[in-house]
Amino acid sequence: MSDRKYKFSWDLIGDIELGRPNLGPMTRIEVYRLMQFVFRDVLESHYGTAQTDALFHEAGKLAGTAFYNKFCQGITDLNEFVRTLQEILRELGIGIMRVESADIEKGSFVITMSEDLDCSGLPELDYEVCVYDEGFIAGLMESFTGKKFKVKEVDCWCTGDRTCRFTAQAQETA
Ligand SMILES: [Zn+2]
Repeated sequence: MSDRKYKFSWDLIGDIELGRPNLGPMTRIEVYRLMQFVFRDVLESHYGTAQTDALFHEAGKLAGTAFYNKFCQGITDLNEFVRTLQEILRELGIGIMRVESADIEKGSFVITMSEDLDCSGLPELDYEVCVYDEGFIAGLMESFTGKKFKVKEVDCWCTGDRTCRFTAQAQETA
């Protein structure tokens, strides 16, 4: 695909101040979730559940990478990276992030995200739904460390927890 119509760039987000002088930059979570869940529905009906999850994961990763490039570039210290992320995620209303454990040697992290955009307040299901966030965290961690990461949501609002908990594990090869 040489001729891409939709290759992501922050420029696509546009000039919100100019475009929404009265409504401003905020919308409601229902709108975000509406879009996310109709995408899931349509993608699943065309491509199946596994492929839909894989696409959401991949999109989340692209978002995490773009987010890193916009907000976190040049940071080399892990604590500063985490602090910066926490501030921006909160400021943008994405969620309240905490790092529960970090083993830099082993490349093992446990990260929680409370009051997140994707699942906080959803009805209880018997599966985790934050596959986009798994990708998002993977994109951030990979950009920061230069290593490949496997990120898995282990607790979710949808499985009865009140926060989403993710394990992030660096993979052997970069
Ligand atoms: Zn979740």
